[in-house]
Amino acid sequence: MHKPKLIVDMDEVMADPIRKLRDWYARDFGVVYSDEEILGKHLAEIVPAAHAAVLYQYLNTPGFFRDLNVIDGAQEVMHALNERYQLFVVSAAMEFPHSLHDKFAWLLDHFPFLHWQQICFCGSKHLVCGDIMIDDHSRNFHAGIGRKILFTSHHNVFEPAEERVNNWDEVAAKLLS
Ligand SMILES: [Mg+2]
Repeated sequence: MHKPKLIVDMDEVMADPIRKLRDWYARDFGVVYSDEEILGKHLAEIVPAAHAAVLYQYLNTPGFFRDLNVIDGAQEVMHALNERYQLFVVSAAMEFPHSLHDKFAWLLDHFPFLHWQQICFCGSKHLVCGDIMIDDHSRNFHAGIGRKILFTSHHNVFEPAEERVNNWDEVAAKLLS
């Protein structure tokens, strides 16, 4: 039986780097940004302009991506999706070269049922085509993707979407029912 090819993003879909970015920023600058303050914006737009580079440094720090929290429900739903779909995790990890090893180790820890062939760390996701893509960045949706599902994250809440899910329960309702 043909299984549709399903492409799932890591950051802000499976893993939560935003919590850690805010924690590190609070540690270094004593400022805690609330959920409300970051709605509709990227963190780099909220911090003082001179600090945007600091956020980038955090993301490129070896170990940053190694111990991120798993987004609620991701493990259970991904496990079930893995039975029903040709499932691939696709992360534009080249943006942060130090993240590659951390992200792979993180996936082995939390998603041990994924074979290494199901994991793709890349530059542009426009090289990757599939039937369905779940991603928090609409910039990754392109003509080679059939069904484009925007996963809600703080920065995209006001963005129009062809199809949106707010959490992994909603992914399950759409793709496993
Ligand atoms: Mg993402």
